[in-house]
Amino acid sequence: MAESQAVKGVFRIEGVVQGVGFRPFVARLAREMGMVGTVQNVLGHVAVEAAGNPEAVALFADALLTRPPAGSHISRFQRHIAPWPTETPLPEGFHILESDPAAGEDHALIMPSPDLALCDDCLRELFTPGNPRYRNPFISCTHCGPRFSIMASIPYDRDATAMAPFPLCPFCEGEYRDPENRRYHAQTVCCNQCGPTLFYEGPSGRTQGTEGALSAAVAALRAGQIVAVKGIGGYHLACSPFDPEAVKRLRALKGREQKPFAVMFETLAELQTHCHVSGEEETLLLSPARPIVLLRRKPSALAAEVYTTSPNLGAFLPYTPLQHLLLWEAGPLVMTSANVSALPILTEDEEILAFLARHPALSGVLGHDRTILRRQDDSVVLAVLGKPLFLRRARGYAPLPLPLPEGGQAVLACGPQEKSTVCLAREGCAYLSPEIGDLDTQEAEGDYRDTVQGLQRLLRLHPARAAQDLHPGYFSTAYAQSLGLPLVPVQHHHAHIASVMAEHGLRGPVLGVAFDGTGYGTNGALWGGEFLLAEGTGFARVGHLKAVPFFAGDESVRQGWKSAACLLWDAGATLAATPRLALVDAALAHGVHTVPCSSMGRVFDGVSALLGVCQESGYGGQCAIELENAATRYLLRAGENANRLPLPFALTEESGPLVADLGPCLRELHALCAGDARVCREELAYRFHATVCHLIAEACARLGQKHGVRDVALSGGVFNNRLLLEGTVPLLESAGFTVYRNHLAPAGDGGVALGQAYLASLTPAL
Ligand code: ZN
Ligand code: FE
Repeated sequence: MAESQAVKGVFRIEGVVQGVGFRPFVARLAREMGMVGTVQNVLGHVAVEAAGNPEAVALFADALLTRPPAGSHISRFQRHIAPWPTETPLPEGFHILESDPAAGEDHALIMPSPDLALCDDCLRELFTPGNPRYRNPFISCTHCGPRFSIMASIPYDRDATAMAPFPLCPFCEGEYRDPENRRYHAQTVCCNQCGPTLFYEGPSGRTQGTEGALSAAVAALRAGQIVAVKGIGGYHLACSPFDPEAVKRLRALKGREQKPFAVMFETLAELQTHCHVSGEEETLLLSPARPIVLLRRKPSALAAEVYTTSPNLGAFLPYTPLQHLLLWEAGPLVMTSANVSALPILTEDEEILAFLARHPALSGVLGHDRTILRRQDDSVVLAVLGKPLFLRRARGYAPLPLPLPEGGQAVLACGPQEKSTVCLAREGCAYLSPEIGDLDTQEAEGDYRDTVQGLQRLLRLHPARAAQDLHPGYFSTAYAQSLGLPLVPVQHHHAHIASVMAEHGLRGPVLGVAFDGTGYGTNGALWGGEFLLAEGTGFARVGHLKAVPFFAGDESVRQGWKSAACLLWDAGATLAATPRLALVDAALAHGVHTVPCSSMGRVFDGVSALLGVCQESGYGGQCAIELENAATRYLLRAGENANRLPLPFALTEESGPLVADLGPCLRELHALCAGDARVCREELAYRFHATVCHLIAEACARLGQKHGVRDVALSGGVFNNRLLLEGTVPLLESAGFTVYRNHLAPAGDGGVALGQAYLASLTPAL
């Protein structure tokens, strides 16, 4: 190339770009495209200097952005292109420079990587006889392997990970030091001569070593037994999904009666014999996060005990080499987190071995001596209208930063009580923790504290203020108040809407539809069917579901039949008297032991009970989930001929907010059910969904007109509902609205902390 034509591109790439093979990728790409120059890790970013002719440098810049390694996430990309100084000769070749040690002290910009699924290159080596890592359960490279779960601190060096106790053998050391090798600076590298060891502990004692441990576990699984298997963020309990008796024993062992289990399949092809998979779903299944993806089931040989009443199946693919080895011989497998009921997933070998000793139904433990430093459940996601919807965001995603506006305050957002997460935020980045779960036990509270402190240490982030929910009874609220930081109280549903604003960079005004179970309102009532006009850090409650007196008490939240009784009482209809209803009726008649509540989630629960679909939730949200399942069964059966007619509802608007009343709908559902035993309850479940879609569309049309707003944000746990979204979004769009939803954070309470962080970081000086 003629030196007079050359230009020099200087690129600064920020995000998750260290520990994911970014520099070798840049070097390979540069050489491919005939660039000369260097690449280097500097502080938290990657610095690239590349010289070549102008077209080539432009193409190179595009390729950096569009073809980065699977585990990387670019959050900011700066380029500066200038003519190459004619007096300076061009350098030779393209080189990876050692990290700049002088710049190594400020780690504020380093973004830790989430855990990454085994890459294809390592998978090939795993099953290649003669390879130094043939059948090695810990094979990994710079493109794959555990990260967040084994990271004690930053910088991400082996000494600061759970790999510290395992010195590199000379062979691995050589690869680790070779800038051209896929394992250059791969902190998790090991081989069959070095690294952690597998064990199996079962009825006949302990077997140490890969082959013995694996064959013992495979034999137990093939014999229909339950085995605990060490994963990335905790132990799984595994058994055959074709064996109804094994699955029943697993349910008894976990104290989980009805909630469907997820199944891990060895390959996508095998998975597809059991489930329908769209393009978007395939992308999710194969992504380095390897989440559980909720898919439409096909008729197959899986035991019904796995999925119970669901038309869906949570399915996922192996993400550790150990899982690949196990699935190859004993797959597919039910894989469920090793815990009892709502307690945190077990991570420590001593804990699972004690569990093994106490529970004869658990046959053995397949574990190893690499410690899990950060507890994480599998993430759960579905694709709706071509976009991901997170039911749980944890392993594989945490602690990837989510977007926040630049320039806000450093914040710790303490989250809600259920599906709790915390969020640390600074400099345009929000680090949402893995989902911790409901804070109803001492164990969960302990996990919560560990998560906050662990994340704060890892990110070296010192919040200047804390955000809290308005609910005075939440553990997370008390925790926020104990920190001694200036507090920003955030209304629960405002936080839901703000989580969507954060994701899409919206400043408002936006019309937020926040439908969920319940949250504390600014008036002390329970909210959960809210239309909020949100702008900047403020909001106005411009509409809501009619507040209905609900029977108070924690138990009532799970008891859909109580919600049904309250809703019908308010609608002026009565249920046939039964002994269990007497107490509720008396409370309603005298107006005692009730709280006004405008929750849409409670209406879904009540309708589920009213239609005889589900009377009581055995797990979180069961009544509403079963109602969606019933409606889906109808839709799958009726297809194009489905009765989509909405049932009646009323929107009234006097001086104050718009009030949406589903009383007429409930009266009609009640009359239809009471009148004719042959009435199709599943059809009514579907028509109830259609009713709510129309209610949202009509309320938004009125409020949008009144307030001059064309942007709608949908959030809250009620929107974890495929039918509801597939019905609502097109209605809103055809009315001219732009609809925004959560695609990065959960729409349910797992996303509340992001909304809190967004609002608290932008709140002016306290
Ligand atoms: Zn790899
Ligand atoms: Fe909520």
